[in-house]
Amino acid sequence: MNRKTFLSRTALLAAGLAGLRGKAQATHNPNSLSGHPAVIATWDNRGATEAAIQRMLKGGNALDAVEAGARVPEADPEDQSVGYGGRPDRDGKVTLDACIMDAKGRAGAVTFLQHIMHPVSVARKVMEETPHVTLSGAGALRFALEQGFEKTELLTGKSRGQWEEWLKKGVYNPAINHRQHDTIGILALDAQGHIAGACTTSGLSYKMHGRVGDSPVIGAGMYVDNEVGGACATGIGELVLKTLGSFLIVELMRNGSTPQEACEEAVRRIVKKYDTRGGQVGYLALNKNGEHGAFSIRKTFPYALYQAKENRLLKAGHL
Ligand code: ASP
Repeated sequence: MNRKTFLSRTALLAAGLAGLRGKAQATHNPNSLSGHPAVIATWDNRGATEAAIQRMLKGGNALDAVEAGARVPEADPEDQSVGYGGRPDRDGKVTLDACIMDAKGRAGAVTFLQHIMHPVSVARKVMEETPHVTLSGAGALRFALEQGFEKTELLTGKSRGQWEEWLKKGVYNPAINHRQHDTIGILALDAQGHIAGACTTSGLSYKMHGRVGDSPVIGAGMYVDNEVGGACATGIGELVLKTLGSFLIVELMRNGSTPQEACEEAVRRIVKKYDTRGGQVGYLALNKNGEHGAFSIRKTFPYALYQAKENRLLKAGHL
């Protein structure tokens, strides 16, 4: 789905919200698969899902898989909402947020990290090498360098040019990224049936310097619990943070909801309480049986799902 098609669906927003305010609609997902290994990622991140599944087919576990997957858009300069090539904040600085969580319930995150191409791998190091969950800003950078990560210029000519154009408008209006490639939230279920998740982003374009979104916050941008399954988010981080959507989805699944029902309820919580006009939040969920769900405010939400058993890569535009 290209940007034009995606944005043209905004007309569906009003109808979608009306539906959400009323009775919950059970949405049948014709593409639903079950079993493992399985990987699901926000947006059309096929390269990431493929990298993740390949990692598992070569013996990696779910944690290795989500890291491998998240690293794909992080290194892609054409993906302007993650890692290298990400759009900067309003001061022209590329600042990155990421988190990772494994089947043992361990978690790591970095926020407001500059100059490092793979924040998801730094987040994994925070999880594995420190007693902490989150490192931020200069401290996160220092830790990354100590761990052997290299300092890189993340602002590409393309992103710099767009930022300079934006500056000319002289209006502070941080923009959500609506493109096909966007913040990646990724969940994987490995051959042993263990689940892990990761989320990585450069955040809202032209945000205030220092702004941190939902993506690195455990329970907001991503959450997994190996007893139940996992969930991840993309969209306006402030809305996800205020409702702790990924944690909510996992808890709803624990209490019997399907992944689809849980994603719908998490979106409903947002639209009930907040003005979401023009905004987008999309959730993905994967349970321990490999069943998935996806739902967003705009009703249409591309994502990539790869299920190895049937050797199928699916991209569902909407459910
Ligand atoms: N959730 C991200 C943030 O608020 C942005 C996005 O998904 O586009 O930083």
